[in-house]
Amino acid sequence: MQGLMQDWPLLCHRVIDHAKTQHPNREIISRSVEGPIHRTNYSKIHARSLKVAQALDKMGIQEGDRIGTMAWNTWRHFEAWYGILGVGAVYHTVNPRLFPEQLIYIINHGEDRVMMTDLTFVPLFEKIQEHLPMVETYIVMTDRDHMPDTSLKNAICYEDWLNDVDGDFVWKELDENAAAGMCYTSGTTGNPKGVVYSHRSNVLHSMACSVPDMLGLSSNDIALPVVPLFHANGWSLAFSAPMSGAGLVLPGAGMDGASIYELLTTEKVTVTAAVPTIWMMLLQYLEAENGKLPDLQRVVIGGAACPRAMTEAFQNKYGAHVDHAWGMTEMSPLGSFCSLKPEYAGLEGEALLDIQEKQGHAPFSVEMKIFDDEDNELPWDGKTFGRLKVRGPAVSSAYFKNEGGEILDANGFFDTGDVAHIDAHGYMQITDRSKDVIKSGGEWISSIDVENMAVGHPDVAEAAVIGVAHPKWDERPLLIVVPMEGKTPSFDDMKDYLSDKIASWWMPDDMVIIKEIPHTATGKIQKMELREMFKDHVLPTADAA
Ligand code: AMP
Repeated sequence: MQGLMQDWPLLCHRVIDHAKTQHPNREIISRSVEGPIHRTNYSKIHARSLKVAQALDKMGIQEGDRIGTMAWNTWRHFEAWYGILGVGAVYHTVNPRLFPEQLIYIINHGEDRVMMTDLTFVPLFEKIQEHLPMVETYIVMTDRDHMPDTSLKNAICYEDWLNDVDGDFVWKELDENAAAGMCYTSGTTGNPKGVVYSHRSNVLHSMACSVPDMLGLSSNDIALPVVPLFHANGWSLAFSAPMSGAGLVLPGAGMDGASIYELLTTEKVTVTAAVPTIWMMLLQYLEAENGKLPDLQRVVIGGAACPRAMTEAFQNKYGAHVDHAWGMTEMSPLGSFCSLKPEYAGLEGEALLDIQEKQGHAPFSVEMKIFDDEDNELPWDGKTFGRLKVRGPAVSSAYFKNEGGEILDANGFFDTGDVAHIDAHGYMQITDRSKDVIKSGGEWISSIDVENMAVGHPDVAEAAVIGVAHPKWDERPLLIVVPMEGKTPSFDDMKDYLSDKIASWWMPDDMVIIKEIPHTATGKIQKMELREMFKDHVLPTADAA
């Protein structure tokens, strides 16, 4: 027997239709790339995204064609996504922080026919366009007054391009499993790999994000996604905000502490999301300027482990609750969210921070399990850690063009490459990337745990921990510290500070101070580069072995 419900394909552009119908006047406020603050709303965005779709159609863009975007979070980038989706093409976000060789690889591998670019990246494309033979047209996302004189192939001014059509366009009817978007993984080993989202996976994922125990946006929220649209599907905010009717504040190219602070306060933002490095800059700014965040209710922190001291600062000093989240490009990206179930709801102080250090529990649509190296499933006891695997309708089944071959195990689970434990209430905590775990005498040391504790020291701005070769133990931890300006913490200080916070055999064997820790294009500590930098480091304990 079949259900007797309507077949209403889960198409992404239905999200912007909904926002226009139910929340037409909710504002989308952007710091434009040209400088001034720009204000629009869902109704106008809807009208302009229809124009984008119509203009792409007029250009001969077909269903499934890839349209590259290299752009900051602004209303133009946001409406362009919906226009691309509504004509049946595929948005392909390209991360400008990648090296030119990687950009060339990704754009050619994705076979982008059109590249939409912000003014910021015009000089970059002018340099690399000769290596991008498949890009037929560059659309510069600006108006006539700011359109540069450029050598880009068939360069078009975005606003002129939109003025050439009337918006009288009907979205294409598509199969909900059709490709909607594409984002390449940062690829620390080998070439980056293309993750391909479908309309269905994006809609289901945004619905899963929208429940109160997850992102839980509402039409009363004003959300500021600092996380760029080009990072891991923009953490779904381009869909979950209009789906919930939340207003949006888009930061453009200004992601420094002062620019973010200005938007948070003048636009009365209630919820914001970014990686820890962004929040580190904001907290330093708040500290220096004696800033206050009266309207901000929630700070979503993910993409890398959120240090305990960061949660404490936001909550205790600035009155904004921290939501620690975990995910990955291959998961659309949300995998877990650390909201408080009743089992933990009454906690306060250090006990609350203990739980908030965890990456949290999975939304409906994500199944997660942990396994040992022999693929035996491990218990949820909050301490046994193993490989974290996931399954669900918004988790990748393969990479674009089947790069990397089969990526699922016999039960359809995807190995995240993360190592984690899960407690009895379903709260998962990442202890490491499997390749970063420190193997000391056959036991594993969590580099993330030690880093998180080390950055709590008042003289430490950022810390990383890596395994360094040791004659007796295989590997022992080396602590790498970037001090706060004007401070020089000693190794003894750090050991004293860490002594009651980590297991004694996790204590680093040595410490080095450096000016800057290298980060990947998505803001994660580049452990591979650190291991390379310190591969010949001789630990003082090596002699005694
Ligand atoms: P990406 O696909 O670039 O977003 O990277 C995904 C990876 O980032 C995950 O597999 C984790 O290793 C890491 N990651 C994301 N969020 C967190 C978090 N909250 N804590 C620790 N690691 C995280």
